[in-house]
Amino acid sequence: MSKIVIIGSGINGLSAAALLAKRGKSVIVLESAAEFGGAVRTEEVTLPGFKHDLFATNLSLFAGGGVMAALKDDLIRNGLEFVPSAKPFCSVFPDGKSIGIVMDRDANIATLTRVAPGDVESWKSLTTKLGILAPHLFPILGTELPSFAAAKSLYKTWRAIGTEGLFDLIRLLLQSSRAFTDEHFVHPETKALAAIWGMHLDYGPDISGGALFSFLESIGGQEFGMVLGKGGADNLIKSLVGVIKENGGTLVSGARVTEIITTDGKATGVKTADGTVYEATKIIANVNPALIPNLLPKLDAEKPEVSKVKNFRPGLGTMMIHLALSDLPDWTASEARGFNYVHIAPYVDDLAMTYTVAAAGQLPTTPALVIGQPTVSDPTRAPDGKHVLWIQVRVLPLEMVGTTWDQVGEEYADRIIENIEQYAPGLKAKILARKVLTPTDLERYNANLIKGDSLGGSHHPAQFFFLRPLPGWTGHKAPIKNLFICGSGTWPGGGVGGGSGLMVANLLSK
Ligand SMILES: Cc1cc2nc3c(=O)[nH]c(=O)nc-3n(C[C@H](O)[C@H](O)[C@H](O)COP(=O)(O)OP(=O)(O)OC[C@H]3O[C@@H](n4cnc5c(N)ncnc54)[C@H](O)[C@@H]3O)c2cc1C
Repeated sequence: MSKIVIIGSGINGLSAAALLAKRGKSVIVLESAAEFGGAVRTEEVTLPGFKHDLFATNLSLFAGGGVMAALKDDLIRNGLEFVPSAKPFCSVFPDGKSIGIVMDRDANIATLTRVAPGDVESWKSLTTKLGILAPHLFPILGTELPSFAAAKSLYKTWRAIGTEGLFDLIRLLLQSSRAFTDEHFVHPETKALAAIWGMHLDYGPDISGGALFSFLESIGGQEFGMVLGKGGADNLIKSLVGVIKENGGTLVSGARVTEIITTDGKATGVKTADGTVYEATKIIANVNPALIPNLLPKLDAEKPEVSKVKNFRPGLGTMMIHLALSDLPDWTASEARGFNYVHIAPYVDDLAMTYTVAAAGQLPTTPALVIGQPTVSDPTRAPDGKHVLWIQVRVLPLEMVGTTWDQVGEEYADRIIENIEQYAPGLKAKILARKVLTPTDLERYNANLIKGDSLGGSHHPAQFFFLRPLPGWTGHKAPIKNLFICGSGTWPGGGVGGGSGLMVANLLSK
């Protein structure tokens, strides 16, 4: 019987393992960390009873994705429980204004009429546009690239929307967030509301490719809301682990793979740090592609097609600040209290400055902040009446001249709290405890997060779609027989979706 070894238990490694185990394959997952889940992990890192999603928190991609569709009953039987939020995101501004997007088109039109009346018609027409494009865009995210299926899907799209429509779509895919928001909106608040979504990936407002995410996430939030895991994002991980075990799969934690063994140019097994050898007929690496040559020292030296993947570039860094709070922040824009995410960017020019300064190795003064308030919709994450705050600082330098994150992390976190205090006076007095995870800490937790890049590789157009991670490594195959790849460094990229796990499982089920 074929034996499949999966290196790494990120959302994609686990998704592949669960699907393959369910289809009767023999799978073993080897994870270097003490816990499974990679960038999806929940821990009481501040005080007992305060459950913090250390990294990812928004599980919407998974909830609407192909793994969920394939394993829904199994996952629910193994404890999966989502908490939906109908108030997904809000942007607050220095003058006390805010725009919050809820799952109610009329309510959003009322908000825009009040705060940004010149953008009401554009918002309506973008809502219509998403309705037209969604049936074509979302299937592509679940389709192998490059592939015949993708070419067929593109042909179907052309038949449905015509040549001009297709060219408009390609234009949208190549546009920057700034170009997109300038084209559709006149108010700086609406532009910022949409452009910050590009920064959730690594698109500064002037980087080609950011428009798609500004469009999909802002209008998509209105249409689909947001989804969290009950009691923590690790609810999803525990249920996937349950499905793997239920179907006879094995998982080993504390097992760092140090070598992929090859025989006659084919991958035949792996060796872990303690010297254990696991033989395999197929290997799936849920490993950042740039790190895979380290696991193949001989081929790295001998085969340029192997070593070339080291050119796969990380996106900029991320830092997390977790707060245990006696109460939610008192936002000056009081309606922000009810939202799952509060964005402090604040405007598009600030995003551009932040991105440029970070790329140049310096600390941004007004960094883009994504502030998660999970206890608004899931009070089980904190003791009665108390709250947790999930603060993601986007984007930060990968390297700094003359200093390190270990030296400046806590001090920089103080500055971030001061920044938030300007939008929510009294926040500091509500902090019961905090935990700071710098970009360096992120990489310590998970080697895939190179220098704190939360996305397992930049998503700029040269490394995205059919080019991810690099030519010669696409289609979830390494240029070595029997070695397959999945994870955020492969198509369809970062996020808790499981899409690449599904694609590689399909490849190995043939
Ligand atoms: C701070 C932060 C916040 C985020 N927020 C969100 C969010 O809210 N929503 C969202 O959709 N996405 C979010 N993301 C992105 C998302 O979490 C990731 O893109 C996704 O979880 C990555 O999954 P993956 O399958 O690539 O594996 P990873 O999560 O990278 O996990 C891979 C696993 O492989 C293990 N591993 C690596 N090398 C080896 C080896 N040699 N031997 C054994 N094991 C190995 C690692 O220890 C790790 O556990 C966030 C990411 C971060 C860091």
